[in-house]
Amino acid sequence: MTGMDISVDLGTGALWTANELAGFVAGLVVVGVALGAAKIDRAVARAQRQGLGLCAECGGTRLARGSGSSVVPCPACTKQSAP
Ligand SMILES: [Zn+2]
Repeated sequence: MTGMDISVDLGTGALWTANELAGFVAGLVVVGVALGAAKIDRAVARAQRQGLGLCAECGGTRLARGSGSSVVPCPACTKQSAP
């Protein structure tokens, strides 16, 4: 016997080999890590800006990202600077 010959029945009627299952799990992990990293990245950026006394949204540029690639005046800054 060479290599792995293990099958896992997930109850869906489809048999997944150990290799397919491992590939599927690895894919999920990669997606999860990528999404988590993006969230953490944003959280860290906000924390750094707040630590520096800058606007958490735009970092003092007074420009924030709108929908798509458009740039809009930072809502947080316009709120603060309103008379
Ligand atoms: Zn701002």
